[in-house]
Amino acid sequence: MKRDHRAVAIDGPAASGKSTVARRLAERLGLVMVNSGAMYRAVTWQILQDGVDPGDGAAVVEALTEMEIVGGVEDGVSTIAINGRRLENEVRSSGVNDHVSMVASIPEVRECLVAMQRAYLEDNDVVMEGRDIGTVVFPETPFKLYISASEDVRAARRARDGEADAVAKRDAQDSQRKTSPLKVAEGAVEIDSSDLTIDETVEEACEALVRLGWNE
Ligand code: C5P
Repeated sequence: MKRDHRAVAIDGPAASGKSTVARRLAERLGLVMVNSGAMYRAVTWQILQDGVDPGDGAAVVEALTEMEIVGGVEDGVSTIAINGRRLENEVRSSGVNDHVSMVASIPEVRECLVAMQRAYLEDNDVVMEGRDIGTVVFPETPFKLYISASEDVRAARRARDGEADAVAKRDAQDSQRKTSPLKVAEGAVEIDSSDLTIDETVEEACEALVRLGWNE
């Protein structure tokens, strides 16, 4: 009998290391890695490109209805295209960093992207990282992790990557919004990566998954 597809949910604040951990877990456990933040970033990039005010919820929702958003998988990692254009590094611009939390707080945007995120599980075992994966996207999965790091460590990581990104401001917006705020999902194993190397963080994540019942 074919078993249902499995989801590993990883949530946490900006620059906590969750994307790197998700990518490494995906390779190790043979899962598709889905970066849900890239979807919110892609919509924000398109909004800015269209000249729409990201603070005008009604205008954003109207623009959203005009977008053809297509999620895919390439080499085991999620991809995103809007209106036929595959979006990659452009979604990490400082303009997107500054406005993505505003766009992600709009319930209709979330509804649209959460549906896309859930659809990945129809064809794949996934590890998905974001802010509401364990609380909203896959609340039923037993495999939930919450990866954090101190604010100083996270700001330093972004600076080292050469990115202008006010992580503290984004975290405040992401944690305080009404719809699907960032919080630790019930049952999630929390890992503080402040003093851990990537290898150590991945190791802790794997051990946590086994404790939660993961078997290969
Ligand atoms: O993960 P990343 O930092 O790329 O996410 C960018 C932004 O997208 C977050 O600051 C947040 O506003 C939004 N986001 C979200 N829910 C998710 C993933 C990302 O609201 N599941």
